[in-house]
Amino acid sequence: SGENFKNFDKIALQVTGSDVPQYITSFEDAGLRTLLLDNIKKAGYVKPTPVQKGSIAVILAKRDLIACAVTGSGKTAAYLVPVMNILLEQGVAPSHGMVQKPEVVIVAPTRELAIQIHREACKFAYNSVLKSVIIYGGTVTSHQRSNVQAGCNILVATAGRLKDFLERGVFDFSCVKFLILDEADRMLDMGFGPDIEKIAAHPTMPPKGVRRTCMFSATFPEEVQALAAGYMEDYIFVTTGTVGG
Ligand code: ADP
Ligand code: MG
Repeated sequence: SGENFKNFDKIALQVTGSDVPQYITSFEDAGLRTLLLDNIKKAGYVKPTPVQKGSIAVILAKRDLIACAVTGSGKTAAYLVPVMNILLEQGVAPSHGMVQKPEVVIVAPTRELAIQIHREACKFAYNSVLKSVIIYGGTVTSHQRSNVQAGCNILVATAGRLKDFLERGVFDFSCVKFLILDEADRMLDMGFGPDIEKIAAHPTMPPKGVRRTCMFSATFPEEVQALAAGYMEDYIFVTTGTVGG
């Protein structure tokens, strides 16, 4: 068991767990693909935020992760950048068909949040083979379904709509490398625990330890800790916060 504690611009980054990967200090030093680095720059990102420094290193090392940091701290890119880099390294091919096999599944509590995540994924995927597709509730499924079937490497979904699509056999999760639960605390508060369970325990979903699981949360209450214990293996815990005084 190891522990790092460093100050960055008065924001503390704490990374705990076994064999903690060294945090990254810049996007350039993270060994990212040129295309991804270019897209990060185009998005206006100059240097990683503290939660990105810790999380990008952990995900690139293919470890399970829980990251807790306040709203606005950059948690979206903290997982999108490393998972997209891994997909690009592995040479994921675009696909299309009735049953889609995404490599990354990102579950979010609300449609607004899912839209934000998908937009950021599209920016980082610009000019690459990677395709992000979004599905959410409150609208008819037909249009979303044909979008999905036109090709889907990265699936961004609200929990309830994803559960519905799974019941209709739209997805096969056998290629999933990363299951990302964004705003895990809020999803549990909103009662999506059973939907998350159906997603994580889907018959085609690789088990924990085979797929990687990453959870992002503003808070870390007992319910989120229990979720982590069920879905993760030997996870790394990244937290950030303002240094007092
Ligand atoms: P969180 O999920 O922690 O609430 P977001 O991922 O939504 O935070 O990011 C908040 C805002 O900061 C977004 O507008 C995002 O584009 C921007 N942002 C994230 N990381 C960086 C960065 N490294 N440099 C500049 N802006 C960033
Ligand atoms: Mg967020």
